[in-house]
Amino acid sequence: MIPWNDIETKWRAKWSQSKEFEIEPDSRTKKFITVAYPYPNSPQHIGHGRTYTLADVHARFLRMNGYNTLFPMGFHYTGTPILGMAKRVQEGDKELIENFEKLYHVPPDTIKEFVEPVKIADYFHEEIKQGMIEMGYSIDWRREFTTIDPVYKKFIEWQFRKLKSLNFVVQGSHPVGWCPKDQNPVSQHDTLGDVEPDFTEYILVKFHLDDVIIPTATLRPETIFGVTNLWINPNIKYKKIKVDNETWIVSPECAYKLEFLNKSITVISEVSGSELVGKTVSILDKKVPMFPASFVESQTGTGIVMSVPAHAPFDYQALVDYQKQNSSTIQPIPIIKTEGFGEIPAKEIVEKMGITNQDDPRLDEATNEVYSKEFYSGVLRENTGKFAGLKVSEAKDTIKAWLAESKNSDILLELNDGPIRCRCGAECVVKLLNNQWFLNYLDQAWKDKTNQCFEKMSILPNEIRTEFNYVVGWLRQRACARQHGLGTNLPWDQNWIVESLSDSVIYMAYYILAKYVNSRELKADSLSDEFFEFVFYGNGDAKQTAAKCGVQENVLQKIRTDFAYFYPVDARHSGRDLVPNHLTFFVLNHVAIFPEALWPKQIVVNGSVLMDGKKMSKSMGNIIPLRKAIQDYGADPIRLAIIISAELLQDADFNLESVNTIKGKLEAIYEDCVRHKPGMPAKLQSEDNWILGRLDHLIIQTTGAVEKMRLREALHHILFSFESDLQWYLKRVEVKRRTDVSGILHKILAVRVAMLSPFAPHLAEEMWERLGNSGVVSRSAWPVPSNSTDSSSIQSEELLQSTIEDIKNVLKVTKITPQKIVLYTADPWKVKAFGKIAASVVAGQTNIGAIIKDLIANPETENIKKDPDFVKKSVNSILAEPEEMRKIRAELEPINETAVLSSELSALVKKEFGVDMQVFTESDTAKYDPKNKARMARPFKPALYIE
Ligand SMILES: [Zn+2]
Repeated sequence: MIPWNDIETKWRAKWSQSKEFEIEPDSRTKKFITVAYPYPNSPQHIGHGRTYTLADVHARFLRMNGYNTLFPMGFHYTGTPILGMAKRVQEGDKELIENFEKLYHVPPDTIKEFVEPVKIADYFHEEIKQGMIEMGYSIDWRREFTTIDPVYKKFIEWQFRKLKSLNFVVQGSHPVGWCPKDQNPVSQHDTLGDVEPDFTEYILVKFHLDDVIIPTATLRPETIFGVTNLWINPNIKYKKIKVDNETWIVSPECAYKLEFLNKSITVISEVSGSELVGKTVSILDKKVPMFPASFVESQTGTGIVMSVPAHAPFDYQALVDYQKQNSSTIQPIPIIKTEGFGEIPAKEIVEKMGITNQDDPRLDEATNEVYSKEFYSGVLRENTGKFAGLKVSEAKDTIKAWLAESKNSDILLELNDGPIRCRCGAECVVKLLNNQWFLNYLDQAWKDKTNQCFEKMSILPNEIRTEFNYVVGWLRQRACARQHGLGTNLPWDQNWIVESLSDSVIYMAYYILAKYVNSRELKADSLSDEFFEFVFYGNGDAKQTAAKCGVQENVLQKIRTDFAYFYPVDARHSGRDLVPNHLTFFVLNHVAIFPEALWPKQIVVNGSVLMDGKKMSKSMGNIIPLRKAIQDYGADPIRLAIIISAELLQDADFNLESVNTIKGKLEAIYEDCVRHKPGMPAKLQSEDNWILGRLDHLIIQTTGAVEKMRLREALHHILFSFESDLQWYLKRVEVKRRTDVSGILHKILAVRVAMLSPFAPHLAEEMWERLGNSGVVSRSAWPVPSNSTDSSSIQSEELLQSTIEDIKNVLKVTKITPQKIVLYTADPWKVKAFGKIAASVVAGQTNIGAIIKDLIANPETENIKKDPDFVKKSVNSILAEPEEMRKIRAELEPINETAVLSSELSALVKKEFGVDMQVFTESDTAKYDPKNKARMARPFKPALYIE
């Protein structure tokens, strides 16, 4: 058993003592690896560990490859969730307090202090930091900060003044997701289930019932020409309300939503839906009746629906249902002509799908199909007046504007995929916010520059690139300030606080400053924008800037040098949920604020972590706090279990079984590390050359995988796929009774341990020490191939392996107990022909006829006439081999098979099958060949006879 916790404590202490990860500029090329910093409102669980672990493996790998690699960490205090928690503690919220006690094991005295938001943040900050240290992350802790530190606030003020001077911060009335209880805009971080609140703009078409307005919400204003009636739900109690100077009838939910859209609402009375049924409303020059329908929902739109049965499957089916019970002569009015559809598209699709009533859920699917076909290829018919002939895609906005101008419409904004709940529990709405400060992500020039950056950037995995392009495309203006929460005040308007997805976009630059803040060489007091302009752009005079900002001139120069050395960011790691917000904003703000040379180089995105195949959540009760897991299983097994279960974008599945498998595997390698001593044998034998070649191969494969952050694959190479090669080698040396291979096994272990060290850093150090190394493995060089590959030993080991396999297979099929095994090797002309065939295949020629023709033309290989089947079999066996092996076959001198088999295989056969073995060449006149098998011999495929 490995004493995991002892080993981990020992090596963490050593790293910390030798300041292993405190990184300063030097003559080497730098790499700057960052991860989205944590929000400290709870301790981290295993799921959080994934992104940080991936980034740490990345940083450690780069470091071993000779890069001066900085990996820092900060803590994001900004925002309202912690404020909300503090409020709930003040109110004595039982559930929350119980979570603190039972789930997070916070001492009761500490919970009492949680009435103060900063105390909550500070507590979990320390908790998370300890977890990160215990996980062995190679973080330079001298650069730690929180987003409410005074210098950080100065930095954010500078960022915002900068953005404002570039006209990227604008003020105006704009819709935002909103928590009515907190009176604050909400974004993904503020909602239960981390949903980004996005919304849809509906057109309210105003029908008139005498002097009362009956508004209906639609996404298709052009269909106003096809309206035949309205649908009212007789069971809804509607509200008659005063909206500014008009009287409207809408559902209670709609009346509530309208309050947030800059309208003054007073309720006059209640109107039952059944009272409205049968009445006639008018719009433009049309008069239409109101009919009852059950599909109409109170919480969607206004609770009243405009019916366009020719083009809306719901409306069509509701009309059919209505006409079954009632006499009505209403007919659908087709107003759009679309290729592929007949006169009445809605009727067509409802009948095709066999839908027979309006509560059929497939009506959604039918609706989507009609809408999208009509939108992209529909044209308005003659009965749409001056809009006739317009494409639907163009008509939409034209008719929307025309309705608005003639005061026949208004706007309703509604959250998509509702209900969305704030973390405080309240249901969110869309609010039109006045005088709100926005980042104008709608700016086309800004978007263009951002796309330019994305184009040049490496994105891992690359398949997620299109998601970024899509996000940049649809981004609109985004509220960047709140009226509550922790954070930095807008420098020009103290009533606002910069919100959390806006003060976390260029902070990677701040890590450079944070070191000097922590050493007290940099203070907030008289820091002004000149300081940041000097550090980030090299603008201004050092002496004057230093004097003005209260910084020593040499310190100022050092900060500038550090920044110039470490920036730009070489890799940004984050979870996939941050693609549509943080990661995109990070790029947007970098291209806005920094010159192109300082734009980020790479984004690495990972999926989430499941627990035994299930999503982790408090309600499932399957959250394991990270620090608890480290105590129970050790940090390294957790790191490996998270990494080995999935490639980047997939969800990783954490389970105990894989932790135990990994522990077992690591224990075996660990035990081996004391057995072997360095030092190569005096003369390398065939199997030595072969295993060293395989080791090169392992290094190349593993390195390639880590470079692409295909860490699951890399780990498989290191831990598992080398095992069968090693087993073969051990079998060979055992049969030969060799005692001089310790040094080779030591070398193999050293390579595997070194490659393991970014993944399992603590244990790898211990193994490295056990192997007799004096320095730390964290600082050792990543293994490189020794190019000791000796192709003739590759060919001979492959020959031995495949011949053993062949014998095993024959014995399995024939069920013989062997008395004697005889092998026949191919004649020299076959060997010549085989080499030529291999060369043809490598050159891309696999046409059997053409190859035969070439071979016959050559006197050395003209014998092929006698055995044309030989070519086909050879081509197939060459194609079955990996590409590198084909090349070896084509380019190299063939080995003397008879010699290899006689000298190397006999002992193996004796050990494996307990019998003697004889080897003859195919045309040996004295050969023992009672069954005439010898003629079947092919190169690398000796013929076989078993008695
Ligand atoms: Zn709320």
